[in-house]
Amino acid sequence: MKKKLLCFPLLLILALLSACGDEPERLQVIAMDTVMTFQTYGKAAEDVLVSASAEVRRLEDLLSRTDPESAVSRVNSAGGAPVEAGAELSALLETAAEYSRMTGGAFDITLAPVSSAWGFTTDSYRVPSQAELDALLAHAGMEHVHVSGDTVALDSGTQIDLGAIAKGYAADRVLDLYRQAGLERGWAALGGNVAALGCRPDGEPWEIGIQDPAQPDDGNAYAGLLYLEDACAVTSGSYQRYFEQDGRRYHHILDPATGAPADSGLLSVTVVADAEEGSGAMCDALSTALFVMGEEQALDFWRTGGLDFQLVLVTEDGRVVTTAGLEGRFAPAEGSGYTYETVS
Ligand code: AMP
Ligand code: MG
Repeated sequence: MKKKLLCFPLLLILALLSACGDEPERLQVIAMDTVMTFQTYGKAAEDVLVSASAEVRRLEDLLSRTDPESAVSRVNSAGGAPVEAGAELSALLETAAEYSRMTGGAFDITLAPVSSAWGFTTDSYRVPSQAELDALLAHAGMEHVHVSGDTVALDSGTQIDLGAIAKGYAADRVLDLYRQAGLERGWAALGGNVAALGCRPDGEPWEIGIQDPAQPDDGNAYAGLLYLEDACAVTSGSYQRYFEQDGRRYHHILDPATGAPADSGLLSVTVVADAEEGSGAMCDALSTALFVMGEEQALDFWRTGGLDFQLVLVTEDGRVVTTAGLEGRFAPAEGSGYTYETVS
């Protein structure tokens, strides 16, 4: 259903409110296959919202895998030939390669053909054989992606999909626009990617609900609440896109080791970090990669990875595990039925 919306122009759903003081301006658009909401305050707020929606449209045009005109599609359809992809896409590919390296390959933008084999790009879902997946995995891995200046070449048979980092990157760009316009406060929610500038007008932190993965259709069912100022929070979860066949559920986050949906004992991973340059992209890449890794490896990565972030893990066995750095910034959701643990 969501895929079809991609071909429509940005859709203005909510009207703009008044333009001054503590009254928020809010704009909701559909872009990058998801609902995005931007909220800002102050004199420049209305103009900034228009710029923010233009910016996510620009990034969709650059990074979409389904739009044949996008730079990513031009790279994917070049049959191994070098493509002038531009500085921005080249830089984002370098960033993706860095997260792939840091996560031991759990973050892998070259799973595009594997994702297509499951039908996640077309919504024509099917369960591929392991032989089919293995044949596709032979072309996966960042060693098949060659970036030189603004030029990108893929080895024949390799394709890229930036779906696991594009929204986080877009959130970084939107927060940049807020700052450049001199805004003190505001937030952007791009699907499961939230970036928050400053705090609420009353001086309190922004309150962000972490969706209860067991009740994905109830927008008011939370596994926990985050209280954040100048921060990003990104959630990846198996509930966000899946299909069912023969009583089994197949979701969209793939394990590069097998080509199958990651079966790591987690229902969702939320990564939280201070809002700094690149932190939206980092949270997005890591939420996907740490979902693949599972609880134990994800916590090891948190302890030793050398990156500054915190985690909220929701496990299949009914636990919500938070890392110590969220003390005072996380609250259990009352009556959720989960048990809560903090690790250090
Ligand atoms: P996210 O919602 O950020 O976790 O990204 C999930 C999307 O990224 C999927 O729909 C795929 O398009 C792609 N993807 C799936 N598995 C991986 C992976 N292991 N590494 C990077 N991207 C992936
Ligand atoms: Mg991601």
